Amino acid sequence: MNTYARFPVAFVRGEGCYLWDAQGNKYLDWLAGIAVCSLGYSHPALTQVISQQAKTLVHTSNLFVIHSQAELAQALCEQSFAEKVFFSNSGAEANETAVKLARKFAKDQGHRERFEVLTVQKSFHGRSLAMIAATGQEKVKKGFEPLPEGFRQAPFNDLGGLTEAISEKTCAVMIEPILGEGGVLFPSEDYLPGVRRLCDEKGLLLILDEIQTGMGRTGKLFAYQFSDIKPDIVTLAKGLGGGVPIGACLATDVVAQSFTPGTHASTFGGNFLVCEAAKKCLEIVSQKNFLEQVRKTGEYFLKSLSALNKKFNVVSSVRGKGLMLGMDLKIPARPLVEAALQKGLVINAVQEKTLRFVPPLVLSTPQVDEGISILSKVLAEAE
Ligand SMILES: *Cc1c(COP(=O)(O)O)cnc(C)c1O
Repeated sequence: MNTYARFPVAFVRGEGCYLWDAQGNKYLDWLAGIAVCSLGYSHPALTQVISQQAKTLVHTSNLFVIHSQAELAQALCEQSFAEKVFFSNSGAEANETAVKLARKFAKDQGHRERFEVLTVQKSFHGRSLAMIAATGQEKVKKGFEPLPEGFRQAPFNDLGGLTEAISEKTCAVMIEPILGEGGVLFPSEDYLPGVRRLCDEKGLLLILDEIQTGMGRTGKLFAYQFSDIKPDIVTLAKGLGGGVPIGACLATDVVAQSFTPGTHASTFGGNFLVCEAAKKCLEIVSQKNFLEQVRKTGEYFLKSLSALNKKFNVVSSVRGKGLMLGMDLKIPARPLVEAALQKGLVINAVQEKTLRFVPPLVLSTPQVDEGISILSKVLAEAE
């Protein structure tokens, strides 16, 4: 169906941070399948486990024990606040799981009147009906009304506004540590701890949508780990499987107890193939040296973007953490994305005048220079 305004490029092969199209043209990739292919393309260790598992057992069902799933859950819990995990196939499904769990938990606590989840303006939580209701952007909702009940948006990065939005029906607050699709927007440093305090005061669950920020993207395994708070629920997808479709909803044991046999399920969720891939990704990404390298490359990347900001009048601001970076322009971004693509650099636009850079986490500093040089030409032409 005609749901994508596709670029007329067909990639046929990838290696590391590079892609090749059907004509043999080579591209440096700063998009990574939208923050998905964190280990780049054809990563030897990832390729090895995927092909080995494909030869052994791809899928059974959640009616039986899946050791790969239990091992992945164990590894995720060891590296985070979490004690229990539910696996899905996508980010939207992971968020649906989180919202169902939060509603059920409120009921189990005796709060029968609580079902509402507060999110923030400019947020993005996925494309299912409930998640477009949760998302703080009109463009994803238009034409699909009536939307499911139980979601309201408070202003972004505004604790006062969030406090005011809480009602007797509220059961949880769901936020992205950094708004990805909304334009790579950072809240102030005291915002997340402030939201945590507020949730504690009001007896609400804190759900962090780390679908884009998680799995090392920002230079820590999870973005919440830059602060000393602990969420109640975290959702993951995108980078979790390095390219295979897998999502996860992580929770504390107390909260997770609200799910009992029969309350929630998925046919594909957490099968052997995707769990083996995700186990390998997690093993590689969570290495201290790996994350340190992401932070270093990210700092270098941001410095290089800042230089472009000084040099070009069409750039209005730049920002980033780890390898999640953004550039605001004074002109529409889409023509620049097209120009970059023609010159062999894959980037994308979030919002009309914002470029987003989410390269594979294995990007090197020479590959930052290589892309900056192309971007520089694109900006010079635009100017
Ligand atoms: C991409 C994204 C989603 C949706 O994930 P899908 O796998 O497309 O359903 C949800 N939340 C955030 C923050 C995302 O970046």
